[in-house]
Amino acid sequence: MYKQIRLVTIGILYTINVIGCNSIPIKHNLIDRGTYMVETSHLSQSIDERIRFLFLHYTAEDFHASLKTLTNQHVSAHYLVPANPSKNNGKYVVWQLVPEHQRAWHAGASSWRGRTNLNDTSIGIEIENKGYIESILGRMWLPYNIKQTNLVIALSKDIVQRYAILPQNVVGHMDIAPHRKLDPGPLFPWKQLAEQGIGAWPDQKTVDKYLAMRSKDQPTDLFTLQNKLASYGYDIIPNGINNTASHNVIAAFQMHFRPANFRGLPDAETEAIVDALLEKYGSIP
Ligand SMILES: [Zn+2]
Repeated sequence: MYKQIRLVTIGILYTINVIGCNSIPIKHNLIDRGTYMVETSHLSQSIDERIRFLFLHYTAEDFHASLKTLTNQHVSAHYLVPANPSKNNGKYVVWQLVPEHQRAWHAGASSWRGRTNLNDTSIGIEIENKGYIESILGRMWLPYNIKQTNLVIALSKDIVQRYAILPQNVVGHMDIAPHRKLDPGPLFPWKQLAEQGIGAWPDQKTVDKYLAMRSKDQPTDLFTLQNKLASYGYDIIPNGINNTASHNVIAAFQMHFRPANFRGLPDAETEAIVDALLEKYGSIP
């Protein structure tokens, strides 16, 4: 008898519960898309940003040629920063060529921190700069002016903050495609950007610690250096062989983090800089 009453009670409670559940009013948030409706009242917590990388380039052309190339041909970038930007309402103007939610075709065949197809997950900024000229004194790299640099900083800072892009994921075309590209070249002010919270830069004290009394240009073990560059994110196969592929990656790294000497030789300072970056930002997962 007692059991029967209990079962009945549970049944009633269950019914009340079901009725109760059904009676909770759902707060709808409907969007009309013309031919159908979309319910958006329950958005998932399992989300992150599609954009994970910011890649910087130089155009290797003047402004008008760059604008033409980047809007008419089979390449594009989200933004173009002129060498001599105009002002509007007291602010310098950058050119947006591709909306941020769409893919721009700027990375090409490339790899960074174990990922490829980088156009899918990146924003690309092209900076007007002709790169270099060949002269009787050798290759002369062309500098970036202060006005343009400040505009690149303002734009990059905004993008990095909006998408929470990690410092180690802000790099140059040369870093992600070291066998094909040299841009934005050794005169690009990476350190100045890092001081503004954009991109990675090693702490000098940590570099000195890893240099450990060695002279900066002392040769270091190539296999070890290749391994460390691969751990940081460069597309390099550690094999201890000093071939063109290895040279290109070491030179790209040096152009970014030690522009005073980017001959591509495996030296102690280069290794100490990679060590300091790995300590600060970690290796690829
Ligand atoms: Zn490029």
